Parts: sequence; structure tokens; C-alpha cells
Amino acid sequence: MFDIVIIGAGLAGAVLAERFAQSNKKILVIERRQHIAGNCYDEVDGNGILIHKYGPHLFHTDFVDVWEYLSNFTEWHVYHHKVRAMVDGQIVPIPFNFNTLVKVFPKNLADRMEVTLLKNYGYGQKIPILELKKSADPYLQFLAEYVYKNIFLHYTEKQWGKPPEQIEGAVTARVPIFIGRDDRYFNDRFQAVPRHGYAKLVEKILSHKNIKLMLNTNFDEVGELRGDEIYLFNQKFTGRLIYTGQLDELFSYKFGALPYRSVEMKFETVDAESYQDVATVNYPNNYDFTRITEFKKIHPAQSKRTTILKEYPQNYVKGKNDPYYPVFTDEARIAYEKYSAELKNFPQIKAVGRLAEYKYYDMDDIVKKALDVFAELKD
Ligand SMILES: Cc1cc2nc3c(=O)[nH]c(=O)nc-3n(C[C@H](O)[C@H](O)[C@H](O)COP(=O)(O)OP(=O)(O)OC[C@H]3O[C@@H](n4cnc5c(N)ncnc54)[C@H](O)[C@@H]3O)c2cc1C
Repeated sequence: MFDIVIIGAGLAGAVLAERFAQSNKKILVIERRQHIAGNCYDEVDGNGILIHKYGPHLFHTDFVDVWEYLSNFTEWHVYHHKVRAMVDGQIVPIPFNFNTLVKVFPKNLADRMEVTLLKNYGYGQKIPILELKKSADPYLQFLAEYVYKNIFLHYTEKQWGKPPEQIEGAVTARVPIFIGRDDRYFNDRFQAVPRHGYAKLVEKILSHKNIKLMLNTNFDEVGELRGDEIYLFNQKFTGRLIYTGQLDELFSYKFGALPYRSVEMKFETVDAESYQDVATVNYPNNYDFTRITEFKKIHPAQSKRTTILKEYPQNYVKGKNDPYYPVFTDEARIAYEKYSAELKNFPQIKAVGRLAEYKYYDMDDIVKKALDVFAELKD
């Protein structure tokens, strides 16, 4: 009855469902949660404010095709994300930039650093903090050490539950110094949030007559792998299966569980119209949470109250919390490769998405990936 079955109604699953539905395929999407949109799911809370249930999601991209594709399904609210950090009792802009230098250091020291940064790296560059640390210049070394200790070290330890040296470069490279005065967190060409939220965007993507959706259903309740065959509703399924869940789960953890970091999301109502100046303030030091986000600053709303979110990182434990960030250890990499090799026995299955590929993807990257996978599989 269905040509394609898709496991997971996050962005990866939804975009692929829509693309195949447009080419006259009949699609079944199976989602274990009670809602669509995966981790970018949002909803209006009791204060009338649109909140992001799985942590703040800011859309930003340089991919024109991704922007144009998504614009078919939503209007946008232009939004440039700004982040501050509580450092030495002051709220300062991050990524650390020239505005931060003058707030944190005496003027002559800040001026000297500004000139040296410009001379060494050039205007508009983003330099990862671990690279700056290697500089031979004593002013830059001092700056690197300051940022490392006050912004990076404890935040990273909290986020990952281990010292930065044990964390892969791709992750640590995400903490840069910006050479200039641009206070925005992202520098991409397109920066916006869907005007009515991500859940409405994904609902529109999925609203094609060829797409059927089953919520509250785990794949293993309706399907299983037997030998090299796929069974769905107890019948052999010969179509394509697009799987956006965890690979270790698909193969019953036979090579061990892949480690993830999770986050406990604690939402609070504050009895004031505004809580902080910008959407997100990071707390690198002194608290168990990593950051506080105020959603009104992302999606403006008329309300006498405001909703904030405190994020408490923790290890992922199956059944207790959600898998958010892959923890890239050598052991995990080896196990993932074994699962990938196992997948080759099932040519009908295509694994796509942040869980299935055990990879950190931003939303624009995953939409791009889904569009590429469709181009690869469509014939
Ligand atoms: C805390 C946090 C903050 C983020 N912030 C940003 C941001 O600011 N900007 C940005 O661009 N990106 C951000 N991201 C990344 C963004 O969430 C991902 O790019 C996006 O969600 C990936 O989509 P996906 O479809 O691959 O995965 P998901 O959104 O996880 O969707 C997968 C879906 O599959 C379902 N599923 C899994 N297994 C099964 C199964 N066995 N049976 C049935 N259903 C199943 C899940 O329930 C889920 O709904 C953030 C991620 C996190 C964790």
C-alpha cells in the first residue's frame, strides 16, 4: 500500500516525505512522540508565548536552496540571535568580540588587543579559542587564557561532563572570538524563525494527500528486521524504508549503546514583562545550568509574564531523557562504523538525520541533506 515508510517526523523525515509525495509516491510516516517536528517542536505555553520544547532553535543559513524550499511552507520573522555571558559579575556579549574587550579590560589593554587581533587575523574573522591559545603574541595569549578560563572551560565541562581536551575539535571549534563589532551570534545570510513556529512549518510540509502520519508509534511496534528483510504490520515490506532514529536501537544495541549527552529543560514563568536584554544569556561559571533563554525575545508576544528556560546538561539514559548530542569517543566511532556496516545488509534502508548518522546537524544542514538524499534516491 505504501511505497515508502519513514521513521521519524523531524525535519529529515518530513522533508523527505514531502519530496517523495510530490513525485506521486505513497508515504507512511511513523513517529514515536505525540507530535511532529522532532527536536525543533514548539508550542504556545500558558503565558501565550511560543516556546521551544527541546531547547532554543534558531534558524540561520547560507544555503539559498534551503531558504527557498522552507519559504514555501512558512512566513518568516526576521531574527538575529544575540547571546551574552555572565563573566566576572558582568553580562558581556559573546562570541567574544571588540565590544566585549572594552567591557572586560581596561581601555589601553583592550585597544592593544584589538590592534593585534586585526594585524594577525584580519577584520571579520572568527578564530576558534583553541587556535588563539597557540599564538606567540603575549597579549593574545593573555586574551586566549582569559576567554578559555572564563567563557569556555567551565561551560564546556558542564555541557559535556568532561574536560575540553577530551572533546573533539569540531565541537570546541564552535567557540570562537570574533574580530569586529558584530554582536550577532551567527553571521549567515539568512537568519529568521518561522513566524508561526517550527511545528506549524513541519505540519505544512507534511500536509500532502499522499502522506499518512502515525503518531505515538515506535518503529518496533509495527515493524521488524528479519534476516535481511523488513516486515511491517507482519507483512513483508519491499519498498524503501527511510530511518531517522538511532542506529544502535534499530539493531537492538548489538554492538553496544552509542553515548549521547542530554539536557534537562526547566521552564519557569517569571512575573515580569521582561527578564533579560537578549534571548540567551550563558552562565559559564557558578551554576549547574549552562544558559537561560527567554522566548519572548525570539517570538515577540503580548504578555504580562515571560517564560524562561534553564538548561541542565546530563548524560543520556534510555527511557529517562532524550539523546541530544553525540559524544564522539573512539569507542563510539568504532561502534557506529559497525552499525553502518550492518546497515549495508539492508539495501532498502536509508539512514538519514542527526540520530541515524550519529552527527550534529543544524536545521539547515539537515534540510540540505534531506534534499540531497531525495535527489540521490528519486529515480
Ligand atoms: C538542544 C538543541 C538545540 C538546538 N539548537 C539548534 C539551533 O539553534 N539551530 C539549528 O539550526 N539547529 C539546532 N539544533 C539541531 C536540530 O534540532 C536538528 O538539526 C534537527 O532536529 C534534526 O532533525 P532530524 O529529523 O534529523 O532529527 P529529530 O528532530 O531528532 O527527529 C527525529 C524524529 O524521529 C523520531 N524517532 C526516533 N526513533 C524513532 C523510532 N524508533 N520510531 C518512531 N520514531 C522515532 C523522534 O521521536 C524524532 O521526532 C539543536 C539541537 C538540540 C538538541
